[in-house]
Amino acid sequence: MTQQQMLPYRAKMQMIFQDPYASLNPRMTVQQTLEEPIVFHNPSISGSEVKDRVAGIMKQVGVDPKWVDRYPHEFSGGQRQRISIARALMVDPEFVVADEPVSALDVSVQAQILNLLMDAQEQRGLTYMFITHDLSVVRHISSRVAVMYLGRVCELAPTTSLFESPKHPYTHALLSAIPDLYDHRHKYIKLKGEVPTPIDLPPGCVFHGRCPHANERCSREIPALNHQGQGVYVACHAIEERRLK
Ligand code: SF4
Repeated sequence: MTQQQMLPYRAKMQMIFQDPYASLNPRMTVQQTLEEPIVFHNPSISGSEVKDRVAGIMKQVGVDPKWVDRYPHEFSGGQRQRISIARALMVDPEFVVADEPVSALDVSVQAQILNLLMDAQEQRGLTYMFITHDLSVVRHISSRVAVMYLGRVCELAPTTSLFESPKHPYTHALLSAIPDLYDHRHKYIKLKGEVPTPIDLPPGCVFHGRCPHANERCSREIPALNHQGQGVYVACHAIEERRLK
């Protein structure tokens, strides 16, 4: 697509970044930050309508509209992330990529921001692609999870089935790392070796140097992401060869 053809789609796709302080322009007030995308995509919109939309979205994300002339440094981390979410929602997107949107925040603020994102999803029918390393956040917010290792998807499954019956050896190891205070027999899977450098990926399955089930095929052939039924996809030779269930 040309830039012109892409334009209507850009408004439908928005992004929320990890560090709200770095992703907001420190020289722009909240008003300027929030009106920029909407004026860009609707050049004919009137000034009063822009003001109303800015005030409305601020209320929705829980930031007092009377602070509209303040700069990012005058807000707390949680408030700044609320403003980033407001900026993404200004153009009524359908799809939002949220890249570690709560990992820079305190735990108590994390819960508020997650609830805000889930409310916005319900009210606006949004689809999120939520990128995070925090498994409790994944479990709380997702309906479908893709587990990645060194940039490749190893398993893609509905959230409940992924947490209750993981298939891929890496997913097993990942979930076993969640501490369980009540189960003293809880077994952690200790992976051997180090994570290879992402700029020089190993051949075959990128996990083969650390996988307890690796065989010779794993070191030369990249496993395909195969459908296992019930919406579960796994990329693993051991599962394909029925060495693993
Ligand atoms: S393809 Fe081989 S190395 Fe990769 S996860 Fe499966 S068994 Fe392990």
